[in-house]
Amino acid sequence: MESFMGMKAKAEALDAKDPLGAFRERFVIPQGRVYLDGNSLGLPARDSIEGVLRVLEEWKTLNIDGWLEGRIPWFNLPEEMGRRMAPLVGALPQEVVMSGSTTSNLHSLVLTFYQPEGKRRKILADELNFPSDLYALASEIRLKGGDPATDLVLARSKDGSTLEEEDLIALMDETVSVVLLPSVLYRSGQLLDMERLTRAAHEKGIFIGFDCAHSAGSVPHRLHDWDVDFAFWCSYKHLNGGPGSPAFLYLNERHFGRDPGLAGWFGYVKEKQFDMKIDFEHAQSAGGWQLGTPSVLSAATLEAALKIQEEAGIDRIREKSLRLTDFLIELVDGFLSDEPYEYSIGSPRDHGRRGGHLAIEHPREAWRICCALKARGIVPDFRPPRVIRVAPVALYNTFTEVWELARALKEIIEKREFERFPKERSAVS
Ligand SMILES: *Cc1c(COP(=O)(O)O)cnc(C)c1O
Repeated sequence: MESFMGMKAKAEALDAKDPLGAFRERFVIPQGRVYLDGNSLGLPARDSIEGVLRVLEEWKTLNIDGWLEGRIPWFNLPEEMGRRMAPLVGALPQEVVMSGSTTSNLHSLVLTFYQPEGKRRKILADELNFPSDLYALASEIRLKGGDPATDLVLARSKDGSTLEEEDLIALMDETVSVVLLPSVLYRSGQLLDMERLTRAAHEKGIFIGFDCAHSAGSVPHRLHDWDVDFAFWCSYKHLNGGPGSPAFLYLNERHFGRDPGLAGWFGYVKEKQFDMKIDFEHAQSAGGWQLGTPSVLSAATLEAALKIQEEAGIDRIREKSLRLTDFLIELVDGFLSDEPYEYSIGSPRDHGRRGGHLAIEHPREAWRICCALKARGIVPDFRPPRVIRVAPVALYNTFTEVWELARALKEIIEKREFERFPKERSAVS
């Protein structure tokens, strides 16, 4: 077997022939840091800084006319961004629109499909989902007069970090109205089989949607071909849109005729929006599910970042992302799993079941190890109780950085560096 230093040479060789290597220069890489938190907040693209300055200039010079005369007219921005996002998730151009936030899109989409009737009153989700999604679902059940204690069914995890598709499918019965699941689980990084779950839901007459916050920009999707009813995702994680950048929603074209669960004037038929009629007539596209005025300034950073994604191509991004996480798994298995290190991989190993990030677990000291990593300039994030979550991002991270992470994890244990940090957690991790 290769020595630990031999693995460094291997990393350098992989970097030297990395077909996506040149994209790193397109981002502002923090000096003296190894940034591995791109699944929480992607790094800024240099073009994003230009992009926001351009829109500020449009605001200064065009004023109100920017709505129709901006380089991308602000009025058409949500549809235009949706059209460009669509190939990254395997959707038709009119099935995606830029709108609101992940959580507001969840609300408008789930409320479009969730119409409890007779025995069919339940929403099926899972206990490992991002809590915000579960808060939102519970509030919708209450809004429709139900009781989340009985109507929100949460699939259980057998091992505390992953879900089995069989278990989810077994819960899809005639009492379930809507299924909402994450594409990639935020903690373990497990990628669910969206195609299989969609087929199973439809066989039981159930609508199904996915929260793709952790897969958009790192994993290819075929939302339209899989016949997924709806989906939504944020743009500040793997899409590098910037803090609070606008989210996206996808709605299968079969459903364009439905009434939006939440309505607002930006969902009006585009050509007639300014007729200001009292009766609502929604656009026959995903655009019909918008609520209000888009965040034009935040979209400017996102637009530039999206261009880089388009240039690199989602298939090449996925290919490198898997190689980066494979390399980290090799390092943890080979050098960091025995005593005294005791690290383990909490993510599925099979490529078909893994997203773009990895959960490295430590049985007792994950929080303090995260503190020690940060003190060394290595940025992961911590997910309680024992996950050190890292995302080596294909567009800007290197194999050498992954090796640097492994070296730090090793030395933090050898030198007991974690003992310098308090056991209590801070508010944002
Ligand atoms: C990041 C994330 C969110 C965040 O929602 P916002 O509305 O953008 O705050 C929601 N759900 C999941 C699964 C996420 O990963």
